Amino acid sequence: MECDILIIGGGIAGLSLGSALAGRAAVVVVEAEASLGFHTSSRSARQLIPSYGPAVVQDLTVRTLAMIRALEVDLPEPILTPRSFLLVGSEESVRDRASGHMHPVTAGEVQGLAPELKPGAFAAAGLDTTSVACNTDALMKYHRRRVLDHGGQILTGHPVRSAAFEAGDDGGSSGLWITAAGERSIRSRLVVDAAGAWADQLAAVYGARPRGLQPYRRTAAVVDVQHPLEEGAPMVADADESFYYRPEGNQVLISPSESVPSDPMDAQPHAGDIDALVRLINSVTTLGITAVSRSWTGLRTEAGDGLPVVGYDDVVPGFFWLAGQGGYGFQTSSGIAELAASQLMGENVNTAAAKALNPARKTL
Ligand SMILES: Cc1cc2nc3c(=O)[nH]c(=O)nc-3n(C[C@H](O)[C@H](O)[C@H](O)COP(=O)(O)OP(=O)(O)OC[C@H]3O[C@@H](n4cnc5c(N)ncnc54)[C@H](O)[C@@H]3O)c2cc1C
Repeated sequence: MECDILIIGGGIAGLSLGSALAGRAAVVVVEAEASLGFHTSSRSARQLIPSYGPAVVQDLTVRTLAMIRALEVDLPEPILTPRSFLLVGSEESVRDRASGHMHPVTAGEVQGLAPELKPGAFAAAGLDTTSVACNTDALMKYHRRRVLDHGGQILTGHPVRSAAFEAGDDGGSSGLWITAAGERSIRSRLVVDAAGAWADQLAAVYGARPRGLQPYRRTAAVVDVQHPLEEGAPMVADADESFYYRPEGNQVLISPSESVPSDPMDAQPHAGDIDALVRLINSVTTLGITAVSRSWTGLRTEAGDGLPVVGYDDVVPGFFWLAGQGGYGFQTSSGIAELAASQLMGENVNTAAAKALNPARKTL
């Protein structure tokens, strides 16, 4: 099997890049699991927050929102729906985290926006009204369809375990990668590492230096409550990252916002994490959580400087990084895919984002 660009990893990163390349290059996406998005991409909170993260992430988020709004025009249902983001905490912690599209709100405004918060529980708050809920399943389906409609191939149940480089006539970088994925042997000029929590491990298969990409656990649960939130209620998050919650139909999605290092794996909730969270949320709100309906854990993978790692490896020919999206994988997906696709198509991309995310940057 041959293609121009082999993308390894069938989460939102790999699929949105495949979609951005559709019609411009022959693309194959390979995924180790039997289904797409099995790992982190099916375990997110599905919220896109333009005021969240460092400046370059915020810019990519704004770009991603604009791109998704443009593509959803042709879809039967919108992918994005309005849902504000309310950050609460001490004066200091809210000030430290509030930037970009977030503005301060008074205690009176907080009571109107989130009447379930017990008065006096938090001293300060900030609101991002540009934040939206994202139908992540619909977004991934859109990208999958676009890859297939343009002649690309998607192979699930095809783990990549080994690869060899066949040097070109010049004996140097113009060669081909021959990648063993499941029972297939795939020849490609370029290989993209979109392997999420496994990105450093996969890089080692191609002889690339690891970038210190560390997976961190984050758990979420859907719970029953005595007093459901209004449908249009904001997502509420503690600025010190001890909890967040948001409406999920008549139920509520909650998370302890933990960041606990883990090996790459099919992460599962730890007994006790959710119990402590339920007690905390019940102490600062009037929601009255009565039961946990389901819970899950995913891995958010970050480089040491907290920025995604996107671009060509500085040593290994034809090896391209698309990793380290941390807690921003959906909100930056289309913006990062656009950047990566331009680089892979040989365009001279000299933007601030390209420099900030470069795998050869000094902070890695
Ligand atoms: C609880 C939680 C809440 C979150 N909330 C949000 C949110 O609200 N908004 C937001 O933007 N982001 C959020 N995130 C982060 C977001 O989910 C991730 O950044 C994103 O899903 C990462 O996508 P990915 O494609 O890089 O990784 P993944 O979805 O993990 O995909 C990588 C894929 O690569 C495959 N793979 C690995 N090794 C190989 C191999 N050797 N061969 C073939 N395939 C391989 C894996 O099987 C996997 O399917 C959240 C994450 C968690 C855990």
